[in-house]
Amino acid sequence: MEFRLIDRIRERTAQTRDDVRLGIGDDAALLAVPAGQELAVAIDTLVEGVHFPVGTAPADVGWKALAVNLSDLAAMGATPAWALLALTLPRPDAAFIDGLADGFAQLARLHRLALVGGDTTRGPLTLSVAVHGFVPPGQALTRAGARAGDAVLVTGTLGDAAAGLRCLQPHMDVQTSLRDALVERLNRPVPRLAAGLALRGRASACIDVSDGLLADLGHLCIASGVGAEIDAALLPRSSALLGLFDEAAARDFALAGGDDYELCFSVPAARVAEVQADLARLGCGATRIGRIVAGDGVRVRDADGSRLEPGRQGWDHFSA
Ligand code: ADP
Ligand code: MG
Repeated sequence: MEFRLIDRIRERTAQTRDDVRLGIGDDAALLAVPAGQELAVAIDTLVEGVHFPVGTAPADVGWKALAVNLSDLAAMGATPAWALLALTLPRPDAAFIDGLADGFAQLARLHRLALVGGDTTRGPLTLSVAVHGFVPPGQALTRAGARAGDAVLVTGTLGDAAAGLRCLQPHMDVQTSLRDALVERLNRPVPRLAAGLALRGRASACIDVSDGLLADLGHLCIASGVGAEIDAALLPRSSALLGLFDEAAARDFALAGGDDYELCFSVPAARVAEVQADLARLGCGATRIGRIVAGDGVRVRDADGSRLEPGRQGWDHFSA
């Protein structure tokens, strides 16, 4: 039974790569790391009811499990190559597996990524994906390296995924097209791989926004030994977010909502225009939202210049 499930996954995710000497089916995969490249590896786990809502479509679950991992490679400026999938399922369900494998494969194909192995067990629905990518030696982007005076930028828009999750709650009776756009951002995050490559040699530090801008920029600041100031008025928000929520709620989703999978990065001030032009050409764009300062911590200024204070459990709209 388990083997038939694995066959279904293998067939649906088939992707040939010269560097995969032996893929799914043996005791281990055999992979050829290209000469002169460093291997970037990352793993993230999604648990049903914790990292995605119960009832999420299987194809969305498969896509998202890969996307959150590719986002980590994007933040390092790495090019993806291979993945492993450890899958825990409550019951052997062929239709569910097919959907999940199709969603995973849809994103994998966009990046020529090969699924080379994994593990399949019984238990509460859980997916762990490990990804492997390449980066030229010494060129990876890291969280360390931001300097006082650098500009802070973010790709795309912030807050949509968290707002999408809010829209899934009962009694949220909202306009369907806007709601669908936000839920799409929650279920089908787009890893910013091309942006990560474009930032190599230019960004002084980079992180992907998975836990919310304030939390993740905070991690970048700690790793770099600096602080940051953010102007709330500059936060990029989608028209769907602003169409469904008031300004304060949209601001809080953008500051503290998770699951955006945008890149937040620092760039020496003199290179901001050049980086913005390149990322605009790549389609995601990048918005300058603040600056790196000496010291520590992330401070947020509201449009009128006053300082915003986060509550103990995050921002007010989130603890509500
Ligand atoms: P073993 O007991 O040697 O670990 P398994 O039966 O767990 O073998 O797996 C058989 C083959 O199928 C291995 O090559 C493994 O990498 C692959 N595999 C198992 N589960 C998955 C999965 N969910 N996705 C992709 N490959 C898988
Ligand atoms: Mg195994």
